[in-house]
Amino acid sequence: MKLLEDRILRDGVVKGGNILKVDSFLNHQIDVRLYDEIGKELYRLFKDEPVTKVLTIESSGIGLAVAAAREFDVPALFAKKNRTKNIDGEVYSSAVESFTTGITYTIIVSKHFLGPQDHVLIVDDFLANGNALLGLIEIVEQSHAKLVGCGIAIEKGFQSGGKMIREKGIRVESLAIIDKMDENGIVFRPQ
Ligand code: 5GP
Repeated sequence: MKLLEDRILRDGVVKGGNILKVDSFLNHQIDVRLYDEIGKELYRLFKDEPVTKVLTIESSGIGLAVAAAREFDVPALFAKKNRTKNIDGEVYSSAVESFTTGITYTIIVSKHFLGPQDHVLIVDDFLANGNALLGLIEIVEQSHAKLVGCGIAIEKGFQSGGKMIREKGIRVESLAIIDKMDENGIVFRPQ
């Protein structure tokens, strides 16, 4: 998605530890028009699927899930990062190690909001090693819903997550895939 790639080139900041900072438009301050366009692009890619729910993980996936869910005219649902060990039985849950902090969270989704009748599109801001997506995929599996695929804003193609999840036969559509990034710049995979 050229609009997103251009914005990453203009405002993204490459940090050490393979981190790309996009705080000024994607996951701290939010460019709502760009979010709208990302939502439309995800709809264009997945519109032939009977999506009933867009699922993400808090917090930075929420805005993108809302933008996509608006296009599909379905609810957005986000997995909560549970900070207590006290999980009641009415939730699906999975353990996720955070790429940015290294902390492992239990993510939870209420059983009220996901079930076998659902067709789920998973959305997130970044795909790095794939732990966040794996956790969300596990929650979809627990619910016996059908997973339609995953829509990602920025995939770091030099990390293992995208390959690992596609090898499971899951459709992953990333709007910008970075093949290389360092102090000299950012190289996108041609799409
Ligand atoms: P994964 O679980 O695929 O390793 O990492 C995905 C999650 O880590 C995303 O939800 C995102 O919040 C965070 N993340 C991974 N890489 C980056 C990065 O380069 N920059 C930022 N800002 N967040 C990242």
